[in-house]
This record gives sequence, structure tokens and C-alpha cells, in this order.
Amino acid sequence: MSDFGDWQRGIVEWVEGRTAFLSVVFSWQLQEAYQRAVWLGRQGYYVRAGGPAIDLNSDAMQDVAITFGAVNALPHHNPNATFTSRGCIRRCPFCAVPRLEGDLVELTDWEPKPVVCDNNLLACSRTHFDRVIDRLKPIPDVDFNQGLDARLFTDHHANRLAELDLRVVRLAWDATRDERYFLTAFHRLRKAGFCANVIRVYVLIGFDDVPIDALYRLETVRNLGAWPNPMRYQPLDAKMRNEYVAPGWTERELRRFARYWSRLRWLGGIPFEEYRG
Ligand code: SF4
Repeated sequence: MSDFGDWQRGIVEWVEGRTAFLSVVFSWQLQEAYQRAVWLGRQGYYVRAGGPAIDLNSDAMQDVAITFGAVNALPHHNPNATFTSRGCIRRCPFCAVPRLEGDLVELTDWEPKPVVCDNNLLACSRTHFDRVIDRLKPIPDVDFNQGLDARLFTDHHANRLAELDLRVVRLAWDATRDERYFLTAFHRLRKAGFCANVIRVYVLIGFDDVPIDALYRLETVRNLGAWPNPMRYQPLDAKMRNEYVAPGWTERELRRFARYWSRLRWLGGIPFEEYRG
């Protein structure tokens, strides 16, 4: 399956009456969004803009659009997506969620859908988690697409996840120091009956690490029979995707890591040290 599923790529745009809406997720889309807003304005639309990139860069569209704040753009990004909670208990320095959404809030009014986008579902109360599982049980191909926090993962979580029709289970392993949490979560999933090859692991690279660190995590995931998903760090105000190169890395090395480890099905027969990109 594609990790993008039914997600719209790029800036999401829709029209209601004479109002055009632009939803912008990434900061490197802001320039394009600005030009689009100018064009829509010239066509006579009232233009409203929102989304994480706008919320983090409130001046970016100020001459050409007004922000849309509480409008729910999610169904326009993916009609099969839902949130059961917002915010997070943590403050990871590479993540926009603490700035955008603040503390964890469990929602009571949410629609069961297969793509569950909670930032940190496992930080919710057991009552909420159990209610989420109960309501998702009739739905095929459920995907918790943000990755489950290995530091919070219990046998209860693993056993209840096993009641669902999950096409993949996603864990996150952002730093080598969290290895024991990752391994414990992985083995709990295996004990609950999940095959290693349905376990996908988001591995953050190019943030507060060096290549040997990242390689250790990526190879550990592969050696367990699971699939690593390298996530190249992007600063929250990046003007261009992949413009940032962390100390200890080179642009070439970041690209080589990202290409090889996200294409293991095709490239996995080549040893990584022999892969030149
Ligand atoms: S746990 Fe996940 S959602 Fe929460 S702050 Fe860290 S990266 Fe962001």
C-alpha cells in the first residue's frame, strides 16, 4: 500500500460559494499558496487560508487571504481520515504539534474512519483508547498513520490493536537512546500476533544524530524483519523541502540514506555501503 493512501498532495483548495479555501501543510508551499491566493482574488473570490504552515507563519498570507482558523480542512485532505484526539503530552523539538495544538485533548465527537491521524493516541487514557478500538473494529484496513509512541506502548495496547483489521502498524524511533522502548514495543506487537513485516518504523534522520546513529536504527529495524521508513528532518520554517543539512551530515549522504532506506523492496539486495545513489 502507499503511505499516502487517499491523501491529496500539495496545497489543498476548495470553493464554497464565493469563498475559496487554501489549506497549506508545509512551509515550503507558502510561496505557491501566496501566488494562488493572488490569482483567486483576481477571479473575484474571497480567499481564506489555513493549515499548519499558515498557523506557524501567520504573516505569510496577510495581504491576500484571511485565516480560516477552526474550519475543518481534514476531509479535503483525505475523506477517510479522522482524529480522536489533538495535541500531545510531549514537546519534541523537531515537531510542530506542541506549537500548533498544545496539550493533549481527547475528543468525544469524532467519526470512525480508517485513517486515524492522532499525534499520540497512546498518551490518551485507557478508557479513550479502548473506546477508539471498539469503534474502529467494524472498519477494514485501519491505519494509525502517525506512528505509535513506543515509550508508552503496553501489552494492553498490542492486544487491543490485534482486534482490528490493521494493514500496517507504525512505530516511531526518533533517537538511538530510545532503543529499549522501541524493542519492547516491537516484541509486544510480535507477542500479540503481528508479523514483523507489517510493522513500519518511522526513523528520524538528520536531526540531532550522525549517519552512524541513523544507520544503526535503520539496520536494526531491517534485521528484525520490519520496514524502516526514514523521515528526513525538515525545520518548521523551511523555505524549501530538503534544504536543511544537519551538522555531521552532507546533502549527498542524506539523499543516499533517504533513497536507499525508503526503497528497500527494490534496493535491499545491494549492501548499503555499496549503494551510491
Ligand atoms: S510525541 Fe510525536 S506528536 Fe508528540 S511532540 Fe513528539 S513527535 Fe510530536
